[in-house]
Amino acid sequence: MIYSDFHFHSTHSGDGEASMVEMIERGIELGLRILCFTEHMDFDYDPQCDVNFLLNTEDYWKEFLHYREVYKDRIDLRFGVELGLQPHLAEGHEKYLKEYPFDFVIGSSHLVHGIDPYYPKFFQDRTENDCYFEYFESILENIDAFQGFDVYGHIDYIVRYYPSRKENYSFREYGDIIDEILKKIIFIGKGIEVNTGGFKYKLDHPNPHEDILKRYKELGGEIITVGSDAHTTEYLGYEFSRTCEILKDAGFRYYTVFKDRKSEFLKL
Ligand SMILES: [Zn+2]
Ligand SMILES: [Zn+2]
Repeated sequence: MIYSDFHFHSTHSGDGEASMVEMIERGIELGLRILCFTEHMDFDYDPQCDVNFLLNTEDYWKEFLHYREVYKDRIDLRFGVELGLQPHLAEGHEKYLKEYPFDFVIGSSHLVHGIDPYYPKFFQDRTENDCYFEYFESILENIDAFQGFDVYGHIDYIVRYYPSRKENYSFREYGDIIDEILKKIIFIGKGIEVNTGGFKYKLDHPNPHEDILKRYKELGGEIITVGSDAHTTEYLGYEFSRTCEILKDAGFRYYTVFKDRKSEFLKL
C-alpha cells in the first residue's frame, strides 16, 4: 500500500481550498503516515491568470513548524514546494531553494513558453501534435536549464486540458520525445511522480499515463513519488489503492518519499 501523499496544496497556494489543519486531519483519517505539503510557487506567471501563485513562504514555514510539532506523535509532516519551471527562472529558483529547509521539491510545467494550456487559446488554430510537441519540448528546455528539483511533476499534464483529451492521446506518437525526457531525468539522478489528479480530471489514467510509467521503469527509473495534487480534502490520497496496483503492474516494488531532499524507498 501507499501511506504517503507527496503532492497536495493547502490555502497557502493561490488555488488551495483547505487549511493545513484540515488536510492533516484528513490524512490521519485516511491512515496516511507521511504528508508532504507542496505549495505552489510560480514566479513570473501568465499575467492573464487572476490567481496569485506566488507563495508567502515565511507564513507557510511558520505554520508548518507549528503543526509539525502539534501532530508529531500522530503523523509525519514534511515541507515541500511545487515550483513552476521556466528556463529563465533557473537562477532565481536556485537562490529561493536555499532560503528554506525544504524536504522535497517538485519541478512542474504549468506554462508552455509563457502560456497556460489551461486556457483554450493555447490549442487554437494548431494541430494536436504541434501542441503536444511544443509542451514536451518545453520540458526538455526546463530540465536543461534547471536540475534542482527532486521529481518532475505530472509529466503529461497537458492531456488534462487538450479539448479532445484522452480520445486522441497516445503515448506511442510521442514515444521518442518522452524517452528523451525520461532518460534525461534518470541521467541527472532525479525522479518523476505519479499524480492521481488525472483520475480527478476523469482521464481514467494517472499523470503520467501507465505506459509512460512502464517505460520509465524499463529505462531504469526508480525514484517515483505518489501524490494526489489535492486542493480540497476530498481528493487527498485519491485512488491510491488503484495507483499502487498500477505501479506494481509497471514493475515497481517500491515508491519514494523524501526528507531533507534525500530519497527513501518504501515497499508498495
Ligand atoms: Zn502542478
Ligand atoms: Zn500541484
